[in-house]
Amino acid sequence: MYIFVYGTLMRGCVSHDLMENAVFICKARTSQKYAMLDLGPFPGVLQNRNISFINGEIYNIDKQLLCKLDEYEGNWYFKSEVELDNGMNAQMYFLKDIPSTVKETSFVIPSGIWEDKRGDNIKTVIGNILQTNRTLPQGHKDTLAYEVHNNLYLNITNKCSASCTFCIRDLCDGVFGYDLWLSKDPTLEEMLSHLHSLDLHKYKEIVFTGFGEPTASFSILLAITKWLHEQGIKVRLDTNGHAALINPGIDVVGELKKAGLDAVSISLNAQNEELYNQLCRPKYAGSYQAMLTFTRQCIAAGISTRMTVVKVPEIDIETCEQIATEMGASFFAR
Ligand code: SF4
Repeated sequence: MYIFVYGTLMRGCVSHDLMENAVFICKARTSQKYAMLDLGPFPGVLQNRNISFINGEIYNIDKQLLCKLDEYEGNWYFKSEVELDNGMNAQMYFLKDIPSTVKETSFVIPSGIWEDKRGDNIKTVIGNILQTNRTLPQGHKDTLAYEVHNNLYLNITNKCSASCTFCIRDLCDGVFGYDLWLSKDPTLEEMLSHLHSLDLHKYKEIVFTGFGEPTASFSILLAITKWLHEQGIKVRLDTNGHAALINPGIDVVGELKKAGLDAVSISLNAQNEELYNQLCRPKYAGSYQAMLTFTRQCIAAGISTRMTVVKVPEIDIETCEQIATEMGASFFAR
């Protein structure tokens, strides 16, 4: 059988001796993206995190060696078949979860190459940019929707394409007494079944917001927007404006308009790209420009558009207001 290794078992690495009875086939990389973590002396790969292609080596091994490798990898890992860029399939070891003992001290390797080691701190990347891997207390109940000031706020994802230095997710578990960490992103069925149990017409607005970027769950966002719009309910989206980067190939504003979105509130957060990158630490290059384009397109589509900033000392609120006004959006400093 073929095994794809990407860390200490590779040639020239500390545990390669274990592979002495294995036949080296070739170097390869996965055809799907995952997240490679630097856990100190060895790496691990998370299967459900879409960061980079993983680079490694393919070996042909027998059952005996496979048992030895299973033992070596231990309890933290499980095997799964992956497709590689040369068309071959092989078994690969994935991390079951981020081990709690290394959660605070590990790093994500954005290149997917073990030799590159250290990248962004794991807490930043996994906690904020992707999805939390928080251990939620026993009995934790996900808050899918919460009521504040006569509005209903929908919490459809914890994923985000930014890692803002001022994000409240680093400071607390929620807002207005609601814990907004999700054990998993809800499905459309789960959201609809919850919404069916509420009197939706009593709210001024229903707002997609929560502890994540709603356009990271774009199909759910669209389906619920359409469903609410058909009932004559006003819908707003609070967003970082990265929708087009998160959902490449989709006319995101066209789809939102078609679904019946009434209003959008976009985080401008900086008077220029350099400061934006410093404060918001976006996952995608070009996020500032993408956010401005998203704003322009929303205005052109006739969606009521507001730009917002957070009141932090680095942000020049007056200049930001000018940017918003010149674009034709209203403005709000939070
Ligand atoms: S865009 Fe919003 S949810 Fe995402 S990191 Fe920034 S403040 Fe937090």
